[in-house]
Amino acid sequence: RGYIERIQKNRDNNVYITVFDKGAIERARVLDKKLEEGHVPGKLFGLPMAIKDNLSVKDAPLTCASGILSQYSAVYNATAVERLLAEDAIFLGKVNMDEFAMGSSNENSSFGPVPNPYDQTRVPGGSSGGSAAAVAGDLAMVALGSDTGGSVRQPAGFCNVVGLKPTYGRISRYGLVAFGSSFDQIGVLSKNSDDAALVLGVIAGKDEADTTSSHHPVSDYAEEMDNVSVKGLKIGVPNEFFPKTLDKGVASVVNARLEELREAGAELVQITLPESDYAIAAYYILTTAEASSNLARFDGARYGYRSKDAEDLAGMYVNSRTEGFGSEVKRRIMLGTYVLSAGYYDTYYKKAQQVRRVFLNRYKEALSKVDVIAGPTSPFPPFGIGDKIDDPLEMYLADVFTVPASIAGMPALSVPAGFDGSGLPVGLQLIGDFFTEGKLLGVAREIQ
Ligand code: GLN
Repeated sequence: RGYIERIQKNRDNNVYITVFDKGAIERARVLDKKLEEGHVPGKLFGLPMAIKDNLSVKDAPLTCASGILSQYSAVYNATAVERLLAEDAIFLGKVNMDEFAMGSSNENSSFGPVPNPYDQTRVPGGSSGGSAAAVAGDLAMVALGSDTGGSVRQPAGFCNVVGLKPTYGRISRYGLVAFGSSFDQIGVLSKNSDDAALVLGVIAGKDEADTTSSHHPVSDYAEEMDNVSVKGLKIGVPNEFFPKTLDKGVASVVNARLEELREAGAELVQITLPESDYAIAAYYILTTAEASSNLARFDGARYGYRSKDAEDLAGMYVNSRTEGFGSEVKRRIMLGTYVLSAGYYDTYYKKAQQVRRVFLNRYKEALSKVDVIAGPTSPFPPFGIGDKIDDPLEMYLADVFTVPASIAGMPALSVPAGFDGSGLPVGLQLIGDFFTEGKLLGVAREIQ
């Protein structure tokens, strides 16, 4: 009730797209009643959660913050959602995001921007801006987001919360609206790494409904966290994550945390990841290609928005998509269609696939020598609402440090590292080898 009241009092912050005001209280009552009747409480009994609006919760609106899905409700539960419910979590509602998870500021939302809880004139990051702002502003205890190239980690860094993107395939994507299917992962945003570990343990694991979900056994994350010792921990620090252009405040906060780890017995190992400059280009070729294909399903025929104003079938497709999608989504569909077209495929798409393999090998090699790779989550602190929205390339650079782990499919998280000179939150990113989420969360606990 406290969470619902706070959400209602703060409706103008735009964090929630849909509030389950009656549903959440009713579910709490039902859970209480079950408890009285001897029900063994689930692992997440009563946990008040927010769900990003690109995840299906049966019978609730599923908008992806897009005009094209503004009237659409989900007809089934995402697997992650189903698993949370089975452990007695309570959903408070669906939260704001960049349209179809394309963006780094939450400004590409048909519902408008969300203010950063630490400075109302700045963005909360994106695309899971609503998820991060909800946890930071005590409008949910834990939130689910999705991360294709940084959309959980970057907003977590901007809002001073923990944001975990697990290994590709760790969590089923069934019921997550697809953006770049070979990158998309559901992630967890929370106040601390213990909460993230608890929720990850519930939603991770093989799912027959998603062939890309992994058979790898789900670890006991709490135990893996306890096994982490800073003494002797090898932390790889890539030169490329500390370029000259890195914001001074961000650099000093991250360096201070790393220095503390060194004093506590960790070994800081200088490493180099020479292909880093190609990350953004490869990422935006591969994900726009996948997006252009994934978003073909929104044609006005099967579900979602249909334009009233069309004379024939092709006109209906064109007008529905023209009126339904926002400009960033259209830009990506056009880019993706271009890089996949005959004559350009080898130059762009195939080349980017090859770059992806090089990244994977490079990160594998680096992580055979160190336990984790560390650096800033974002090259700059939260920026002003409106500052980058007219310059897509500038906006894409917000992902320069988060995109590599997504290209490699490796787990990564952002942990609060402190505040810069202007009082803005700074996130520290940790990247690990496949399926080392427990280790990452354990190191994060030492940092926070
Ligand atoms: N900001 C990146 C993009 O716009 C990442 C998005 C995401 O991870 N969903 O593609």
